[in-house]
Amino acid sequence: MTQTKQPSKSTISIWGGETKHAHYERSTQVPVVHSIAFGYKDIDTWRAVALEQEEGHIYSRNTNPTVRAFEDKVKELEGAAAATSFSCGMAAISNTFGTFLRPGNRVVSIKDSYGGTNRLFTEFLPQMGIDVCLCNTNDHAELEAEVAKGCTMLYLETPTNPTVKITDIRRLANAAQVVDALTVVDNTFATPINQNPLELGADIVIQSASKFLGGHADALGGVACGSKELIKKIYHFREINGSCLSPTDAYSLLRGMKTLSLRVAQQNRSAMTIAKWLLQHPVVEGVNYPGLETHVNHAIAKTQMRGFGGMLSFSVKGGLDAIKTFLPKLQYAHMAANLGCVETVVGPPLVTSHVECTDEERATVGIPEGLVRYSTGIENVEDLIADLEQALAYIANPA
Ligand SMILES: *Cc1c(COP(=O)(O)O)cnc(C)c1O
Repeated sequence: MTQTKQPSKSTISIWGGETKHAHYERSTQVPVVHSIAFGYKDIDTWRAVALEQEEGHIYSRNTNPTVRAFEDKVKELEGAAAATSFSCGMAAISNTFGTFLRPGNRVVSIKDSYGGTNRLFTEFLPQMGIDVCLCNTNDHAELEAEVAKGCTMLYLETPTNPTVKITDIRRLANAAQVVDALTVVDNTFATPINQNPLELGADIVIQSASKFLGGHADALGGVACGSKELIKKIYHFREINGSCLSPTDAYSLLRGMKTLSLRVAQQNRSAMTIAKWLLQHPVVEGVNYPGLETHVNHAIAKTQMRGFGGMLSFSVKGGLDAIKTFLPKLQYAHMAANLGCVETVVGPPLVTSHVECTDEERATVGIPEGLVRYSTGIENVEDLIADLEQALAYIANPA
């Protein structure tokens, strides 16, 4: 984009990455280039592209025009210098770890990270001789103290899954900078519409594009954004290790992202309305939503987020039995493990993100048996509330 005034997120989500790549056959939309290889008529041009002296593509495991358009759009939305993409969000995370972590290194992170990420921390990184220190998510002093002891990487996720806890990115990135550690932030829940971790001092921002970015639950993808220097290293690791994004999924994600800012704006508004409505409901015991003034980190959320997101969680009286009673009665919600799409999706952490945890482990991160994760869709909010009302009524009067 060559304009002098920085375009708004809604404009970038539509035009970002598109124009440069859409010249094939004068199409106005980015074409899906299925070709795994790109042929050359002369060795000099081929060599120049291979040496990255000239723009172009050689082999789709490395780069591909459709995939590049996706990377460029996310890059612009995050205000980053560079981006590289992956087959899914977990690949973005594991490749970033693989790029920067060596045996003997130390990582500081939080107890509440995404289930898959937590598995990397507790199962796979220790196997590779990497020391992982997981702090209480809300305890900034503990995180700062552990970072100050020295580490290679500080890894954050905010808001977290499913209790939507918030950590102060700027404060902790400053602490990491003192010990020369990289700050990596998983921005999946917030999306670049609501939060830009790079502006808050993070070095690398990661996203599962399978969630809000794509928004239609029909394509897997992941992305990492940051400086040219850091992303070049991650790209090199990924190009050799091979977890590349498919052009078909890149196309679906590009198409979904055109409505990203519209969807997220609606989800921000609806989630806030629903969170407030749930607060006053007699069978609801607690509501977690960073937009509520009662949220323990509301003040931090207000300074680092432009919107509070579509994710919330709430607990109901009666625990697991109550959930088994009311969730299947919801008419406008899928009971499923995903989140961030146009449809509302609900699931108890007991069977989704925290299925492998013991009761005690769940209790330490604040997940009661009766907790429900609610990913607000873009349906009419009054319809969603009426749906919750009729379903919750079954808890008092099981049919
Ligand atoms: C889903 C998710 C991931 C993993 O992404 P996949 O695309 O499923 O691999 C990582 N972090 C967060 C916060 C997620 O919600």
